[in-house]
Amino acid sequence: MPEQPSEQSLKKMRNFVDKYCEKSGTFTHPVEGIAEEVIQGLARYSDELGRPLCPCRFYPDKNEEIKHRTWICACDDMQIYKYCHCLLFVDKEGLPITEYLPEDHEGRKIHGLVKDPTPDKGRVLRHKAAEREIERKERPS
Ligand code: SF4
Repeated sequence: MPEQPSEQSLKKMRNFVDKYCEKSGTFTHPVEGIAEEVIQGLARYSDELGRPLCPCRFYPDKNEEIKHRTWICACDDMQIYKYCHCLLFVDKEGLPITEYLPEDHEGRKIHGLVKDPTPDKGRVLRHKAAEREIERKERPS
C-alpha cells in the first residue's frame, strides 16, 4: 500500500465522512488526529483497491474481502448497529454507540453499553441484522 493517499481520495473520504456524520447523527472523534488517521487509511485503500475498506481490521485477503459489503465504509456494523470499530463515527464524548450490538459482540465487551443519542438517524440496514449475525459467526473477518 502506498504511504501517502492521493489528494483526490482524501478529498472524497473527507466529504463522505462529513455527510455520513450528518446522516447518521454521529460525530468524528473529539481527540485531534484520530479521525484523520482513519480517513487516511480509508483513502489509501480507495487508491489501492478501488474501495474504502475499513482500515482498522486485518484481512487475510483484501481482494477477496472487497467482494463483500461487510467492511466497505460505512460498514455493515455501522449501517446495522451504528457501531464504528475505528472510532471515526462516535457520540459527542468520543464513544462508539453500542446500544444495538448483540451482547456477545466485541464492541459491547470493550465499551459496555453506550446509548444512541440520535435514534431517529442512521441504521438504514437495520433489517439486515439477522443476516449479519450469521455472517459474523460463519465468516469472521
Ligand atoms: S468501523 Fe465501519 S464505519 Fe467505522 S471506519 Fe471502519 S468501515 Fe467505516
